[in-house]
Amino acid sequence: MAIRPILQYPHQGLKSNSAAVLPADPAVDDVVQDLLDTLAASPGVALAAPQIGHAVQIIVVDVSRKKGETGHGLVVLLNPVILALEGRKIVREGCLSAPDYTGNVLRHEEAIVEGLAQDGRIITINARGFEALAFQHEVDHLNGMLFLDRIQSLSTDLFRRKTRG
Ligand SMILES: [Zn+2]
Repeated sequence: MAIRPILQYPHQGLKSNSAAVLPADPAVDDVVQDLLDTLAASPGVALAAPQIGHAVQIIVVDVSRKKGETGHGLVVLLNPVILALEGRKIVREGCLSAPDYTGNVLRHEEAIVEGLAQDGRIITINARGFEALAFQHEVDHLNGMLFLDRIQSLSTDLFRRKTRG
């Protein structure tokens, strides 16, 4: 398939709830491939379908794209839900849909995430650390939420990235 443009805040497509998908639907494979192609061409570690204009519950996460991280490698999850969260922590987060900013948000150190693989198998992931944050961030996208929506104080918790050149 193809590399797709990543929708940018405040695009309305980033604010809606996404629909559950059926693994047998061939359209799902097309969206997954576009997500993988777009992620591969980006500096990020994860993407959610709404970020490339599809309001469906599909995420791809691959924290091994970040130096020093391995996690579970590439994970494609359909209809992911977070079953449990443990260990509250404030972290600095960014997003491919708001590349000029980072912000401090409340997340959890550990997350148990369940969803379907493309072949319909149920996958349960016990994620920790950076990978747990990535799953929390991507599931938020499926609920129309950006890290910007989780920032408590725009004056103290939102930061503009230094621009290059
Ligand atoms: Zn994001």
